[in-house]
Amino acid sequence: MGVCPLARTPLLRDNFSGPLDPGARPEVLTCTSWGAPIIWDGTFDPDVAQQEAVQRNLTVGLTVFAVGRYLEKYLERFLETAEQHFMVGQRVVYYVFTERPAAVPRVPLGPGRRLRVERVARERRWQDVSMARMRALQAALGGRLGREARFVLCMDVDQHFSGAFGPEALAESVAQLHAWHYRWPQRRLPFERDARSAAALARGDFYYHAAVFGGSVAALRRLRAHCARGLRRDRARGLEARWHDESHLNKFFWLHKPAKLLSPEFCWSPEIGRRAEIRRPRLLWAPKEYALLRS
Ligand code: UDP
Ligand code: MN
Repeated sequence: MGVCPLARTPLLRDNFSGPLDPGARPEVLTCTSWGAPIIWDGTFDPDVAQQEAVQRNLTVGLTVFAVGRYLEKYLERFLETAEQHFMVGQRVVYYVFTERPAAVPRVPLGPGRRLRVERVARERRWQDVSMARMRALQAALGGRLGREARFVLCMDVDQHFSGAFGPEALAESVAQLHAWHYRWPQRRLPFERDARSAAALARGDFYYHAAVFGGSVAALRRLRAHCARGLRRDRARGLEARWHDESHLNKFFWLHKPAKLLSPEFCWSPEIGRRAEIRRPRLLWAPKEYALLRS
């Protein structure tokens, strides 16, 4: 069995993956240069992860924003499929952020699972909605969500679950490999290259996707504070990073290496087509319909 050093250190004492078997997937990278595991299908035992999480009596938070047309278009399917696949058997608290709490669909929830709705202001530009997520998240982490949940995953709403997404995805800090970019050469990765931006990166480790990130409440508060500072600084200089909050998230994970990475199987775009290494996608992106949603 191959060894990924971080998987044995206190940083990953909240690992939940069970003993990892990186050798089960020799065709892909299963460990980063700093020793964090990259979780691919077959490298972990979902039953062990499940048992460990149940023993710890965890509550896992899942935050999602559904503002404007994203609410009607995506939220119901996101929540329904989360009930089928997300942290089944654990205590879960969903936090839905929206400007229209009354329009949130009433999805039947399994035992030990709750849904809370938090009201947020509607921003004029979609770029601002995306960035406002960071602000609202900070408020929630400092309040009820932070008290209720031990770990939190933060997700885009324009996707749905298609396979088991369990406690193996949890760790002190968790980053998602971007489905479109995980095979790209370093120099082409879409980091913010303008040196004036707080998100500027001359190089990085991987390109991470802001549609899924997570960690402990404390780690997420640090992440959020970092991104908010960067966004404010850029705005004061009349700058906006290339991929908005995602650019700042990438900068954060360059400076503070994530304890665990999720393979692109955990957030896959069907538009990419079939790939041998993508065995069982767990979340699937909805097709982009920007013309409709962002007008
Ligand atoms: N979002 C929203 N309403 C909007 C724009 C964005 O609720 O008008 C939220 C929603 O959760 C969405 C996320 O912000 O999934 C990120 O935006 P989007 O998915 O459009 O960005 P992309 O995935 O294309 O980077
Ligand atoms: Mn999205």
